Amino acid sequence: MSDGSRALREEIIATAIAMNAAGINRGTSGNVSARYRDASYDGFLITPSGLAYERTRAEDIAAVTLAGEASGPRAPSSEWRFHLDIYRSRADVHAIVHTHAPFATTLACMDRAIPAFHYMVAIAGGRNIRCAPYATYGTQALSDHAVEALRDRNACLLSHHGMIAVGPGLQRALAVAAEVETLAELYWRALQIGEPVLLSDAEMDVVLGKFAGYGRA
Ligand SMILES: [Zn+2]
Repeated sequence: MSDGSRALREEIIATAIAMNAAGINRGTSGNVSARYRDASYDGFLITPSGLAYERTRAEDIAAVTLAGEASGPRAPSSEWRFHLDIYRSRADVHAIVHTHAPFATTLACMDRAIPAFHYMVAIAGGRNIRCAPYATYGTQALSDHAVEALRDRNACLLSHHGMIAVGPGLQRALAVAAEVETLAELYWRALQIGEPVLLSDAEMDVVLGKFAGYGRA
């Protein structure tokens, strides 16, 4: 294991622990990955299947090539396929956080996208946060739906499942995931007292422009 690979593996574990500590995931239902390239490798590193993050060591992190070949002592997360397809289709993405965050997942169970009810929705890169149609976890169909829902976006919900946040690095992907969960909670609260009033496309475009100005990714 190279020093670069070890440092990234440790950052992945720290991100997974932080994801649970922030209350946006429980147990091992989520997963975290980061793109990894060196002279002899082109792929990504991902949390293994079914191992508590606190007990995960750097060598437990699975490696998957962009051809989809996994290596390491443990199997990669059962949801490695959508990580693979996101890295294949999005050169700008270097980290992915997938969680079953309670409020985001509640909306996803109602097949509800998050509309422009609050300006921070723009943190996901567009005027709304889409909800990808349901497909069985781990399948190519789910992966295809996720890639489509993430088109021009940094986050999406997964129907009857959870959410995905992506970014140029692990810190940013985790921050986007936390913000999406906050937005999901606010939207859920607003729905308790009626149908939230939405911002116009023009107002959202102003915010998107301001976010782009300080390195949205
Ligand atoms: Zn999941």
